[in-house]
Amino acid sequence: MTTSHILGYPRIGEQREMKFALEGYWRNELDQKTLKKVGKEIRHQGWSLQEDQGLTYTTAGDFAWYDHVLGTSLLLGHVPKRHQKGHPDLDTLFRIGRGQSQQGCDCVGQAASDMTKWFNTNYHYIVPEFSKDDKFEVSWNQLFEEVSEAQAGGYSVKPVLLGPISYLYLGKEVEEGFDRLSLLPRLLTAYQAILSKFEKLGVEWVQIDEPILALDLAPRWLESFRLAYQIIRSDVKVLLTTYFDSITDSLATITQLDVDGLHIDLCAAPDQLNDVVTALPSHWVLSAGMINGRNVWRSDLDGCLQRLQPVKAQLGERLWIGSSCSLLHSPVNLESETQLPPETQQWFAFAKQKVEEVKWLALALDGDEAALEYCQNYSHPIRARKHSSWVNKPQVKARIDSITNHCDKRSAGYNERAHHQKEVLKLPLLPTTTIGSFPQTGEVRQTRAAFKQGRLSQLQYERSIQSFIQDSVRRQEEIGLDVFVHGEAERNDMVEYFAEQLSGFQTTQFGWVQSYGSRCVKPAIVVADIERKKPMTVGWSQYAQSLTVKPMKGMLTGPVTILCWTFPREDITREDIANQLAFALKDEVKDLQQAGINIIQIDEPAIREGLPLKTSAHQEYLNWATKAFRISASSAKPETQIHTHMCYSEFNEIIDSVAALDADVITIETSRSNMDLLKAFEDFNYPNEIGPGVYDIHSPNVPSVEWIEKLLSVAAEKVPPERLWVNPDCGLKTRGWKETEQALKNMVEAAQSLRTRWS
Ligand code: GLN
Ligand code: ZN
Repeated sequence: MTTSHILGYPRIGEQREMKFALEGYWRNELDQKTLKKVGKEIRHQGWSLQEDQGLTYTTAGDFAWYDHVLGTSLLLGHVPKRHQKGHPDLDTLFRIGRGQSQQGCDCVGQAASDMTKWFNTNYHYIVPEFSKDDKFEVSWNQLFEEVSEAQAGGYSVKPVLLGPISYLYLGKEVEEGFDRLSLLPRLLTAYQAILSKFEKLGVEWVQIDEPILALDLAPRWLESFRLAYQIIRSDVKVLLTTYFDSITDSLATITQLDVDGLHIDLCAAPDQLNDVVTALPSHWVLSAGMINGRNVWRSDLDGCLQRLQPVKAQLGERLWIGSSCSLLHSPVNLESETQLPPETQQWFAFAKQKVEEVKWLALALDGDEAALEYCQNYSHPIRARKHSSWVNKPQVKARIDSITNHCDKRSAGYNERAHHQKEVLKLPLLPTTTIGSFPQTGEVRQTRAAFKQGRLSQLQYERSIQSFIQDSVRRQEEIGLDVFVHGEAERNDMVEYFAEQLSGFQTTQFGWVQSYGSRCVKPAIVVADIERKKPMTVGWSQYAQSLTVKPMKGMLTGPVTILCWTFPREDITREDIANQLAFALKDEVKDLQQAGINIIQIDEPAIREGLPLKTSAHQEYLNWATKAFRISASSAKPETQIHTHMCYSEFNEIIDSVAALDADVITIETSRSNMDLLKAFEDFNYPNEIGPGVYDIHSPNVPSVEWIEKLLSVAAEKVPPERLWVNPDCGLKTRGWKETEQALKNMVEAAQSLRTRWS
């Protein structure tokens, strides 16, 4: 019989029960007992599903109260000093994750640990902090309790554990002059203790996740695996688990490790299969990650079967079938969707359906007649989709086919454009502006909700949004900004807004995925060729411009960001999707320009996070990503000024690609790093204009005039003042009006006083 399992199941609950319980607990509205009960119910739902579907193993230990890396820190008793207070418990965990466990607790004032992206997903983990004298000691019983809990329920349990090398690698040193890898021997002692506890619990297999094996690891990190897996050897069998990319480059080292099997991701890196099968030690099992844990598409089970049958013939019982990675990155249950068109419904599989897919594939590999037939039928809708005229639009394909080496070029180079723009825009030295959104007050959100639910007519809705625009224009006038924005009151989210208007996207009701802690996102799905049905932003921008003589900045989300923050199609490349979006945006730019909008911002905050894991693949990605951006902007006349905006990550390493966007102006998050980022622009000799953010919008604190002047003076040492803009770090939608107005007034005052001094 083919062994079947998944690497992990979502822990937010079908209706985001965990989110609401956590937030209730943090607000002191729910006690810890009730919170724990909710967690337990969610775990049991996942386990009983795996059991009901007949998977060989039920995965435990994948649950997390906030984040699984943070959970590992607690398990190891590895708590940042500032959060150490008695024996680590659930409140310790919340304090590390969010600075505070519950409202009104006496723990406020200690900073939360940093959070960063989990590989190239949109999940974020809490970064472990390492110091020279750190100790590791199994301190938190959550994991073992879960394993016992599952065993008591009669499940055949396979616990999952984040591996020691990945745990170290994913953290950071918080002390100078030491290398966290030197902590490995001490860390391994704790891992030995964990494994011996598993042994006592009668665990047969443990899944040890070492996702960093898919990165380009420095030799000392790769080498450390050898010793580590020798030392933690016990009677429990180890399935060494990798995902998100190929491991063929490290296969020679990996196959020498003292483990009992290997899991590989055949969705992210299908081509590694043959190499791995060939190199697989004869006593190892191979877990084939065939069912994609990171996307919402139904698997082509029949196709999977055909690929795996020869492997099955070769490996026999040593072949396991699994999800490619944890299903944490999938929405929970497709059955909750009641508003999908019936045709589309059959294209998708969420976590629950993916568990079923694993089962059917394993059964079919064993030759089960019913399963073979099931797989065949199951593949029909998505195979039919490939030829559906609704999905493939010749007019979209024709535009993609028309892409040439020059189609992404503006009609004039930057210097000439800058000259034209100066004449048209007549902006002062150090022009002031904002990034796009203004405070999303309760009233703004209620208006959108009322319209969505049909409680407001189209006309009433338009009037309300117009009144928000009027209000924001009046405020900008009073503040004295130079370049205005309309404020984005009509947008709930910078990607969803466009996904709802472009054809080719499907949005869902409950397709939530955990982003971090209690925060979930609901990405739209690219289902067909993307086309713009009609102008998407022109009406609002034009109306806003009619209210003022100041230039009104049009506001678009860039092709790469829309791509990165949605579930992509898998039948065409990411590059093709980005280009389809680019053409739709190009038309929007053209229409905005025609409607009298002379400045257009195309936001690309996500451009860096789309980078593939392997360095060798970076350049290719950056080439097509920047090209897609340029295509979007290519309809702009020389006198139309194109802005872009970036935030959330460091752009130093990709500064040449930032320059390759050839935007006339880039506004970028820099205030938290004290303008450090500008060094990269200076070293690179960045040719166009830059608006380094002069205050952090994540905090309600109002920056003083002096503070902003100081930052701008630092900036002016690195970028000539004639090319400097003055703006906040990011959009202001999460702020209130009061602090926003005060902060922007100070910002304008600082710009004005430097303007007189510097000109
Ligand atoms: N224009 C968007 C806003 O102001 C940009 C948001 C972002 O960078 N994430 O909200
Ligand atoms: Zn931003």
